[in-house]
Amino acid sequence: MFAVPNTAQTTPERDFYNAPEIGEEPEVCALCYGSGMEIVAGKGARPCECRKKRTHSNLIEKARIPKRYTDCHFHSYRVLNPSQERAFRFASRLSMEYPAVDRGLLLMGTVGVGKTHLAVSILKSLTERGFSCLFYEFGALLKSIQSSYNTVSQTSELKVLAPIFDAEILVLDEIGASKPTDWVRDTMANIINTRYNDKKLTIFTTNYLDERHAERDETLEDRIGVRLRSRLFEMCKTVSITGEDFRRTFDQITPIKKNTR
Ligand SMILES: [Zn+2]
Repeated sequence: MFAVPNTAQTTPERDFYNAPEIGEEPEVCALCYGSGMEIVAGKGARPCECRKKRTHSNLIEKARIPKRYTDCHFHSYRVLNPSQERAFRFASRLSMEYPAVDRGLLLMGTVGVGKTHLAVSILKSLTERGFSCLFYEFGALLKSIQSSYNTVSQTSELKVLAPIFDAEILVLDEIGASKPTDWVRDTMANIINTRYNDKKLTIFTTNYLDERHAERDETLEDRIGVRLRSRLFEMCKTVSITGEDFRRTFDQITPIKKNTR
C-alpha cells in the first residue's frame, strides 16, 4: 500500500462541487492533488471528478468557439417561429444521437435567425459528451490559409488545413460569404470533399438561400457553384430558418437578457 495524505480521506465529496468555477479553479485539485485519482476511504481509488471537468474544458478550448458565442447554447436559443423550432429540433437531436448519424446539418437562413447559435450549441453539447469539435468561420479560415502563403510565416497551407480535415466534428460558419473566386471555390471543394470522403460530421451555416428571392439576387448555388451545392445537400440535412433578425427584434421589444451563468 502506498501512503495516502490524510486530508484525502477527510475531504468531503461536496467540496469539489463548491469549488470555484473554471478559470478561478485552484492549480491543484483538493481531492486528488492533481493525480486524477481520488482516494475514497474504505473503498479505494476512483477517477476524480476534476478529470472529467478538465477534459471538458480542454475540449471547449480546442473547439475554438469565438468569445462572442460564449452564451450560446440550446437553453438560450429563442424559438420565435415554426422554422426555428424545427431547426432547434434537428440540431438538438443531432447532438444527442451522434455518432449514430449519417449526415451533418446545413443551416440556411438570413442574418440573425440563429444559425450560428444552433451550430455552436451542437458543438458545446457534443464537447459535453466528450467529443472533439472545431469551429471555424469560413472567411477567417481563408485568411489563415492566405497568410500561410506568406514566405515569412512559419506555417503552411497544409498545417492550417490539417485540423480542419482532422476534426471529428467541424462547424464551418458562413459558407458562401466570401467572394467566390476560383481559389475560394477550390479551397472550399478541398475541405468539403475531404471531409465527405472521410465520412466526418460537418455542420455548415450560410446566409444564402436555395431559392431565388426577389430582394436577394444570389442563391447558395451562385455563391459556391452547382457541384459543391449538391455535395453539401448530399452530406447534410438541409434546414432553412426564416424570421426577423432577432438581434434587431429584441432590441426593440426588450433589452437582450444577459446570460448570468
Ligand atoms: Zn481531482
